[in-house]
Amino acid sequence: MNINSNYDNLAQSYLFSTIAKKVNEYTTNNPDKKVIRLGIGDVTLPLCKAVTDALHKAVDEMGVQSTFRGYGPEQGYDFLREAVRGYYKSHNVDLELDEIFISDGAKSDLGNILDLFAKDNTVLVPDPVYPVYVDTNTMAGREVKFIDANGENEFLPLPDKSIKADIIYICSPNNPTGAVYNKEQLKAWVDYALENKAVILFDSAYECFISDANLPRSIYEIEGAKDCAIEFCSLSKTAGFTGTRCGYTVVPNNLGKLNKMWVRRQTTKFNGVPYIVQRGAEAVFTEEGQKEIAVNIAYYKENAKLISDTLKECNIWHVGGKHSPYIWLRCPNDMKSWEFFDYLLENAQVVGTPGAGFGKNGEGYFRLTSFGSKENTMEAMERFKKLFK
Ligand code: PLP
Repeated sequence: MNINSNYDNLAQSYLFSTIAKKVNEYTTNNPDKKVIRLGIGDVTLPLCKAVTDALHKAVDEMGVQSTFRGYGPEQGYDFLREAVRGYYKSHNVDLELDEIFISDGAKSDLGNILDLFAKDNTVLVPDPVYPVYVDTNTMAGREVKFIDANGENEFLPLPDKSIKADIIYICSPNNPTGAVYNKEQLKAWVDYALENKAVILFDSAYECFISDANLPRSIYEIEGAKDCAIEFCSLSKTAGFTGTRCGYTVVPNNLGKLNKMWVRRQTTKFNGVPYIVQRGAEAVFTEEGQKEIAVNIAYYKENAKLISDTLKECNIWHVGGKHSPYIWLRCPNDMKSWEFFDYLLENAQVVGTPGAGFGKNGEGYFRLTSFGSKENTMEAMERFKKLFK
């Protein structure tokens, strides 16, 4: 047999293992120091009560002959697809039920969707970037071009008409930068995609952090997007489902054969998300569920605001933190990303993520997240003030 040699072309990512190693070394040598981790990309608050009640109920149903369920529909149960449709409707987006696919999270479908595209497509990815977009294409042997996100464009690059792209990745609110596109900017991308007969793969995993009604939560709020975009969303950050696993993908019927191809792909390679999990996910969209998750999202957003306000006080340039759990800052005193990591660990015992780990344009930048506890975030910011104010 021959192995897929494209795997040899994957950049080895030592980002999180290097961070863990450095932090371990530091805590071993300085056992009396309290290290605060603001690099965390996972949620920390538990599932809300509406969700756990629904999960318990579904577990009980599975233990009774008359309500037991075996294989479910590969595209997801209608009760959850209807709930997702209602959620979109509340943001003025009308979807057909057969355009909504329940997934076990955005990451899987972002990778799986590439089954639908030929190898000879040019892929356009912003730099810095969530590494999954690049790695999944590299595994398939596809060429990836980068578009620069940087301080000049406030990490919101717009289309460069001189580049001909076929598959375009956009993530808004963005990981790692926290930057959010407005409607006009997203319209520029939609127009560009339509002109190029390209497809946009729109990652809206962080849409729930948007609190300005004028900012788009879904690309389908933009005219023409149903003719060129597939959207990936997730309950991971919205409702603490990082370990429970549920999301949804929208493949519009307007996209030629793609919707039917995706049905074919899913029915062949996927057997659906567990019934129990889908009942838990359904509860997220109830009135009670929405109220309860809003409390958790507000908690993270308060942390983000505290970080952003502190950076302002310290005159540290940054984006994000307003409609996003991520804050992307320029390292003070022209430090490089890893230099700043070491400096911060040594002098403030605060851990973040070096921007250089997300692409070449991330060099000189640093990512903090708001997923820690309020107490730790406050203490970390006091330490920032002591160092930089
Ligand atoms: N997309 C982005 C931009 C992310 O940051 C993440 C997770 O961190 C995901 C997708 C994956 O989400 P899920 O947990 O639904 O697979």
